[in-house]
Amino acid sequence: MTGAVMEFLGEELREMGGAGPREGNWRAGRDADGILWLAMDCEGSGTNVISRKVLEELDAHLDAAQQDMPKALVIRSAKEGGFAAGADISEFKDVADNAEELLREGHAVLDKLAALKCPTICVVHGAALGGGFEMALACDIRIGVRGASFAFPEVQLGLHPGLGGTFRSTQLIDPVEAMTLMLTGKSAHTKKAKSLGLLDAVVEERHVAAAVKAAANGELEERERGLKARAFSLATARSYAARQMRSQTEAKAPKEHYPAPHALIDLWEEHGGDPAAMQKAEIASFGRLLQTDTSKNLQRAFFLRQRLRGNAKGEDDIAHVHVIGAGAMGAEIATMAAIRGKQVTLGDTSAEALGRAVKMAGEICDAKHLSGIDKRDALDRLMPDPEGYGIGAADLIIEAGPEKMEIKQKIYDGLKSRMKKDAILASNTSSLPLDDLATHAPDAAQFAGLHFFNPVSKVDLVEVITGADTAPQTTARLAAFCGAIGKLPVHVGDYPGFLVNRALVPYMMEAMTLMDEGVPKEVIDGAALRFGMPMGPVTLADYVGLDIGLHVAESLAEGLEKPMAPISQTLRDKVKAGETGKKAGKGFYDWSDGTPHPESDEEGPADLTDRLILPMLDACVEVLRRDVVAAEDDIDAAMIFATGWAPFRGGPMHYARARGIDEIQKRLKELEAAHGPRFAPDPGWQKIG
Ligand code: NAD
Repeated sequence: MTGAVMEFLGEELREMGGAGPREGNWRAGRDADGILWLAMDCEGSGTNVISRKVLEELDAHLDAAQQDMPKALVIRSAKEGGFAAGADISEFKDVADNAEELLREGHAVLDKLAALKCPTICVVHGAALGGGFEMALACDIRIGVRGASFAFPEVQLGLHPGLGGTFRSTQLIDPVEAMTLMLTGKSAHTKKAKSLGLLDAVVEERHVAAAVKAAANGELEERERGLKARAFSLATARSYAARQMRSQTEAKAPKEHYPAPHALIDLWEEHGGDPAAMQKAEIASFGRLLQTDTSKNLQRAFFLRQRLRGNAKGEDDIAHVHVIGAGAMGAEIATMAAIRGKQVTLGDTSAEALGRAVKMAGEICDAKHLSGIDKRDALDRLMPDPEGYGIGAADLIIEAGPEKMEIKQKIYDGLKSRMKKDAILASNTSSLPLDDLATHAPDAAQFAGLHFFNPVSKVDLVEVITGADTAPQTTARLAAFCGAIGKLPVHVGDYPGFLVNRALVPYMMEAMTLMDEGVPKEVIDGAALRFGMPMGPVTLADYVGLDIGLHVAESLAEGLEKPMAPISQTLRDKVKAGETGKKAGKGFYDWSDGTPHPESDEEGPADLTDRLILPMLDACVEVLRRDVVAAEDDIDAAMIFATGWAPFRGGPMHYARARGIDEIQKRLKELEAAHGPRFAPDPGWQKIG
């Protein structure tokens, strides 16, 4: 793609006497028809971001165009990856104090683009996100290269569009569709974008020049614009639609925790009939949202994701993966690796398990919206391998067999003398001590833990676990592999429950103790949901599987120096009766009709939320003190990306700091006095306080 784009913008335009080299973040040139081409090509980055500088330079190009009006102006990207990834988030924290002034400057540039007295045409290939989407909206015509997509991801940062997106999108297309895009952050891919009216034409890259010429000559089929927007120009129609949006939004993103979507609905309801007023109100509202803790913490989560991506930076040298065990975990691990281009062989002693795994692989491809060809290729790369022929060819073997030391030992014995010299063996164990497993591995230096979370296709985090004898090279290669298959690796040491389960299990066990004390499960889950967890602890226990939870809790209770809440007899009875949660259709909840959504307005005991949340924080401090993880940010990142831990609070350690380290210790001591030694504050609090 870049080849074609650059060829056009570079060689051909140079020949036409226009395209200069990159100046700042743009390449500019006029072609023989007098069309001015502006290609965004941000300096020092493979991706365009709409920074203040990019807009200032665009402004200068627009001033020059006004002096010598071209036949048409085209904006496109010179980057292979796509149009633009949105605003430069790293600028947000610097601008928080004078955001409105800076926003007004940005708006003035896009207003100038929108008002230019020649046709303005945006050519989009790949994704146009946030500020990039807003730049495209300020043009008269949008031409998409097949594969183009648009999205407003601002809501994921606790914001709404702030560069004119709110009033331009609701004027251009059906406002309810525009609001849905802004409220959900979901992408409109080429076909959808065309049917919504975001794109005026869709072409192949080689036809871009012809399509631009047609657009410049007014030959592109004109659509009637703004029809639907007019239908919503009446305040009563907007109020009715806004009411529905509000109730749907509140269910997913309560206003108390996520103010941005609600501010957006207010904005549209109040000003949707008056673009100028909406523009003014958008700027003020965006400025206010930037100051909220929610937005600051969600921006923090964005940078935490980048941090984990940084762990995966090394060169990935894994071409062939052999996965042992095609159960719940192995099947999904194998599928995700195959989707991302790895050659995968999948072994299991059970033919049924292999059959189920292949069926599931197809379902995951569909859920991930893979095209027919991509799905076929992914499934071609995934080979059921009951005889283990792949063992000798694999660069990495991931063992996802049953959680029993004897079985894993037997599996490892079978690998000796069959593995390639430099191949890594990694176990997906959640509770067996890595160093015990290492004694059975063919080579302890090339053995490590690779702890994926269930469901692998949806949870991004992977714990890369270093054992006492694991070579640094081994964990670095595993982290790079995680990055290559789209996962976020965090480095952790060998410790009961590693990081994430160490923190989660006390939360789930405390919930069961509360149930044994007579607090209804809906009240317990309700408290966690109100705190901002994506799922209450009782629902989570059912979701994970009560048998798995019990097993992990037992092994944790054995390995930790501090007592946990006693393991509930009800939990043991449920496991014995086969009521293991979601997979059995029944656990603490009835799952026969899908995921339960417990609702209760009852508050429960006054210390309910702290009893659930503080043991998690305490476990995080314990793993930090014991050097299981390197930094507080790793903990926050891991908990957010493995468990969905209230991201608007910035992660457990960030929350602890915001609430006050002394205050948390004081509260833990009160809970210790009331409920026992499991709440005794970890000595690590004093170190970080
Ligand atoms: P599972 O019981 O669903 O799958 C295990 C598979 O291994 C089965 O298909 C079984 O037939 C197969 N198997 C048994 N003996 C074998 C052998 N000798 N050689 C090859 N295959 C053999 O288990 P799971 O839930 O997928 O868990 C697998 C591993 O992942 C365990 O170590 C578990 O602790 C860990 N884990 C599980 C979860 C979870 O939520 N399920 C989460 C993280 C990690």
